[in-house]
Amino acid sequence: MDQQLIERIVGEVLGQLSKDVSPLPAHAVPIAVSARHVHLKPEHVEALFGKGYELTKRSDLSQPGQFASNETVVVAGPKGSIERVRILGPARSLSQVEVSFTDAMKLGVKPPLRESGDIEGSAGITLIGPKGSIYLEEGLIVAQAHIHMAPDDASRFGVQNGEYVTIEVDGVRPVSFRNVKIRVSDRYRLEMHIDTDEANAGFISQGTIGRLVKLGAEKAETAKTEMHVPQSAPRLVNKPYEFKKKLLSNEDIRSIQEQDILLDKGTIVTALAKDTARELGKTISFRK
Ligand SMILES: [Zn+2]
Repeated sequence: MDQQLIERIVGEVLGQLSKDVSPLPAHAVPIAVSARHVHLKPEHVEALFGKGYELTKRSDLSQPGQFASNETVVVAGPKGSIERVRILGPARSLSQVEVSFTDAMKLGVKPPLRESGDIEGSAGITLIGPKGSIYLEEGLIVAQAHIHMAPDDASRFGVQNGEYVTIEVDGVRPVSFRNVKIRVSDRYRLEMHIDTDEANAGFISQGTIGRLVKLGAEKAETAKTEMHVPQSAPRLVNKPYEFKKKLLSNEDIRSIQEQDILLDKGTIVTALAKDTARELGKTISFRK
């Protein structure tokens, strides 16, 4: 193996190591995906689970003090119902049900897109528990994407409570979320909350890292990218890419447009290149 190859492999390994130990990059926001869930006021806990009943903790959530309870309910709408919908604790002053739009279609209801807690005039829904059922006149919403952060994070990003930002997410299906509201409190931990429809749209899983873009910056960025709009849609490439070099690196994987990459026997594939191929959904095979 020549010196240059060795240096490249060492470089990639070192790059991978430093990625694992260093703190998140400056504009990084970890993303958490919220599945459908219910918040209940104490009277509603009793109506569904029996007099004097209190929610019991199953696991802590990432935001301090919040927990997933052991208790679940059936959420029922005119067209269908969804079983085992988790109740989040502690009990709140208002009962609220957060579902995805896909859930709403299954239920046969039309909830508005709202910030958590803003339920006035939202959709009605039925909840069924082991000891009773209730109909909420309002309280069913699709939750608007938002970012929780502590004051320190806010000053680091240069944003304020209530401001809207854009979050970009790279990956096999890159997406950006616009109108994402910043919520600042010293009780919060830095985290963006999206629902399962938003996550599925971008192939986003728990802990995926997004990039915060300020609105002013975004306009500048948009102006820049408009100059580079391709004249035609990218064509689908079905033929495998014939890779000729002795070492397939991470950079190579990223620069190859084709889905399938064909290698000579004995070609070295770095561990990072393998990871990236998996991440981008590319297949690597060897020439017979
Ligand atoms: Zn949240």
